[in-house]
Amino acid sequence: MRVGVLAIQGDVREHARVLTELGADVTLVRRPAELAGVEGLVIPGGESSVIDKLSRAFGMQQPIREAIADGMPMYGTCAGLILLADRITDGIAGQETFGGMDVTVRRNAFGSQVDSFETDLDIPALGAPPVHAVFIRAPLVETTGAAVETLAALDDGRIVAVQQGNLLGTSFHPEVTGETRFHQRFLALVASR
Ligand code: GLN
Repeated sequence: MRVGVLAIQGDVREHARVLTELGADVTLVRRPAELAGVEGLVIPGGESSVIDKLSRAFGMQQPIREAIADGMPMYGTCAGLILLADRITDGIAGQETFGGMDVTVRRNAFGSQVDSFETDLDIPALGAPPVHAVFIRAPLVETTGAAVETLAALDDGRIVAVQQGNLLGTSFHPEVTGETRFHQRFLALVASR
């Protein structure tokens, strides 16, 4: 399976390593021609406003939007989840997203009191054991449309993992803890397309 990691900014290498370990043929995607050569795309964690700006500067916003509309499976972690959201709150002035998921995502939702934290999440769709989730200046999913499946929430009900068709998003970073089940789920979407 040929899959890409959007390699504009963020923790690109961590995702590439997990995907390679799972047997995928990984391309670092910076240009439209590279996107055209893959069957799925991971959008890494990092800084969503920077990835947004540079993807527009590199002529990548439109091709990624077209790939999403065409049904290409994508998985976004943290900043990547923000970029897959149709609506964001607390973006910087003029910040845009690729969109595709009918969700509203609040950027830096945990504020300064808890910028980063770790917790274990029960995620029925992935089975046992719980997922050890690392949140780093993480976003939250504040509203979800009818087509969106909630995969995981914190104990207080706040949503941190979602799926809509071939699009998958998590507020946290499985790629930094050795957790592979989200990437396997993404690769399964690629395989079944
Ligand atoms: N706070 C970052 C943003 O707004 C996301 C942080 C992350 O990806 N770890 O894009």
